[in-house]
Amino acid sequence: MEGGVNMQKKVVHTRVSGELYDELTKKAKKRRVTISNLIRNIVEDSLDLSGEVFGLVDEKIRSKLNREEAILGYQQITLSKDTICDFCANDIAKGSETNIAFLENSAKKLTVCNECKKKQEAEE
Ligand SMILES: [Zn+2]
Repeated sequence: MEGGVNMQKKVVHTRVSGELYDELTKKAKKRRVTISNLIRNIVEDSLDLSGEVFGLVDEKIRSKLNREEAILGYQQITLSKDTICDFCANDIAKGSETNIAFLENSAKKLTVCNECKKKQEAEE
């Protein structure tokens, strides 16, 4: 870490819901960064965009997730490589049955483990 007064880092503690924490963990794992790094990036982005911090980070993540993850349907597949569930970030081993979620508003496809699929279906 570089020295100097202007480079001094402050620590911010914050509370998030369990649900948001899970989403952050998942996103951080996917991007291979720490949760702390992910949050810092989001906050910096938010400041760049609007100059507002309060409530925005939480809201931004939620609306982004909700928009991206409106699931149109699932297709069951047999994995030909190890991967992780895009929802809970648990490992899913090569050869096991898992689900691909097709999204309503995006060409992106998500890998969804059986437990998360059940959870999603229960919520809808
Ligand atoms: Zn899962």
